[in-house]
Amino acid sequence: MRTLITNGTLITPHEILTDSVVVLNGGKIEAVTDLIANETEQVIDANGDYVVPGFIDIHVHGANGHDTIEGTPEALKTLGEFFARHGVTSYYPTTVANPAASIQAAIDNVARSKQPQHGAQHLGVHIEGPYLNAKYRGAQPEEYFRLPTPAEYGQWLESGVVKLITIAPELQGADEMMSALRPHGVEFAIGHSGASYEQTLKAIDMGLRQITHTFNGIIPLHHREPGALAAAINDDRVFAQIIADGVHVHPAMVKLLIRAKGVERTVLITDSMMGTGVADGDYDFAGMKVSVKSGVARTESGNLAGSTLTMDQAIRNVMNFAGITLQQAVTMATLTPAQAMHIDDHKGRLATGYDADIVILDKALNVKMTIINGEVVHGS
Ligand SMILES: [Zn+2]
Repeated sequence: MRTLITNGTLITPHEILTDSVVVLNGGKIEAVTDLIANETEQVIDANGDYVVPGFIDIHVHGANGHDTIEGTPEALKTLGEFFARHGVTSYYPTTVANPAASIQAAIDNVARSKQPQHGAQHLGVHIEGPYLNAKYRGAQPEEYFRLPTPAEYGQWLESGVVKLITIAPELQGADEMMSALRPHGVEFAIGHSGASYEQTLKAIDMGLRQITHTFNGIIPLHHREPGALAAAINDDRVFAQIIADGVHVHPAMVKLLIRAKGVERTVLITDSMMGTGVADGDYDFAGMKVSVKSGVARTESGNLAGSTLTMDQAIRNVMNFAGITLQQAVTMATLTPAQAMHIDDHKGRLATGYDADIVILDKALNVKMTIINGEVVHGS
């Protein structure tokens, strides 16, 4: 069935088009054109609102009372449906440090679970923990931290769904792990790490290409000890994830990062946890008690424990924080994460042949409709 989206302001995101329509057919974008197709069975009138590629969240643990680490199909269904309501069409369910068996179960669950009918698609697993530095643990449960072992990460690789791993590259065995997994297309991000400037440069030379939630869980920037942050920010090969909730990172530092990296290398993430989208209260996060008060999640020791941010809110926030345009903000939630994960040949743009993952934002930038694989899964 062919669907036409008319009357939209299209943000592709390279260009802004006001006189074009998007033609969807068979789960793909058949054309972005100013010529109206004849055989159209469904017309979606965007009514002057913004038509943008679906958002891609590469670092997200949970929402709506559920978490990736539960390892159940229900958790993925709940997450997918929740994220779709906030414009996310693809995401990488993200684990936390846990016993080997529960991490493996979470991976196997993603490998086995079908895509939800009415929710965002899971494109693979982001492993955050257990190969982290205890000194920079944040809210990660330290008792499950360990050194990389081929026996464990070899099994992750076998699943075929592990696509991104956050590690502290200074750990013994991290180099071997990167050498072993990089040729299989697994991306690495530095995070929860005490790596020096030099150690980080070395990791980048070995193929590390991302920094996890920049500024959080890492040595702060210092003008005489530049550390991992300066190494990652200076190097154009590295994509920088950022939690733009205004709590994890001061808005001025979000702006600083975007000025340094550009929207082509800054990736909006939510890092959201199970307390997202539900009332304030106490939740279980990787076996720890986490309290959510006024939307801010903390462990009992007071560390921030993931966010309650949604991607549409991140876009609105970052426009305010950094004084950037909607087009720039959308880029950081679509094309840039797609490039960071090497899926930009079929996701992250409104272009012919791309997957029909599309979001319509109203004038206040709220999500009015979400289309995944050519099907309307949220809004009408
Ligand atoms: Zn983290």
